[in-house]
Amino acid sequence: MENPYGLPDDMRAEIGRIAAAAALNRYPDPAAGRLKQRLRDAMAVPAGLDLLLGNGSDEIIQMLALAVARPGAVLLAVEPSFVMFRMIATIAGLRYVGVPLTCDFQLDGPRLADAIVEQRPALTFIAYPNNPTGNLFDADAISRVIERSEGVVVVDEAYHAFAGKSFLPRVLEHPNLLVMRTLSKLGLAGLRLGVLFGHPHWITELDKLRLPYNIGVLAQAIAEYVLGRVDVLEDQAGAIRRERARLFARLASLPGVHPFPSDANFVLFRVTDADAIFDRLRARRILIKNVSGAHPMLRDCLRVTVGSPEENDRFMVALQASLPVAA
Ligand code: PMP
Repeated sequence: MENPYGLPDDMRAEIGRIAAAAALNRYPDPAAGRLKQRLRDAMAVPAGLDLLLGNGSDEIIQMLALAVARPGAVLLAVEPSFVMFRMIATIAGLRYVGVPLTCDFQLDGPRLADAIVEQRPALTFIAYPNNPTGNLFDADAISRVIERSEGVVVVDEAYHAFAGKSFLPRVLEHPNLLVMRTLSKLGLAGLRLGVLFGHPHWITELDKLRLPYNIGVLAQAIAEYVLGRVDVLEDQAGAIRRERARLFARLASLPGVHPFPSDANFVLFRVTDADAIFDRLRARRILIKNVSGAHPMLRDCLRVTVGSPEENDRFMVALQASLPVAA
């Protein structure tokens, strides 16, 4: 789920100059003050919110899990969703509870309400849009989860650039809501920078768990520069959204292929025999993600990242050649 485009030459050259001038003999600024200000500007962060930075949002998930970990504490997520929620819960010694989505991949309100009462989760993650299904959940259903929960609810907006909708403007309305983003899907997956937005009373406590130098000198300097030209990344996200529409229409036109509508930079689609088609694509040197075995609701599902127009064309040609011949 990376951005296929890379940065333009002038920006790459400037990054070279920035890297050459960076004080690599010094420890980084542990508070990353300038970078946080850049993030506030680039992401139009409402006044009154604080920021916590992570080495990718994966690290923020880990910090949140460590913060609430005590015997019996529950981390709740919906299923199918991002696998790291379960994995990090297990590593941190939390009890993981997964609540299935409805068959159209929406939040199951009554089941979630019961789980919140019965399990009293300390921490709940909702990916918005969701991975690997690609859809945005109903915003009112998410609000009900936040309101019903005594614990903290994190809305994970990793794919925000491709969706537009956000819970960021609502963080100050809910004392237990945090919003998480990442620069990974926007085009800086290799830099590793995730960010959590929240009321200062949360961020101050969570920051005590952060290792002081988790964001290196180069990552800070390069992110500061690139965020000053965030319009370049946003234009690329716009191109990815347009390609997503084209890819979706082409997938939908193939017999035996059922794509699910996506607000992210990938498309989930169901086929008749995911394992065989995945292997045939790989034999043609096209690697996508086989999520068929990841969850019963994903049976015979594959997930493809939206690439450049050329990559998507190559994928479509290979997919057509990999489908079973109609009887
Ligand atoms: N949240 C979701 C929903 C994701 O899909 C991903 C990446 N696959 C992440 C968080 C983690 O992103 P990163 O650690 O690169 O910031």
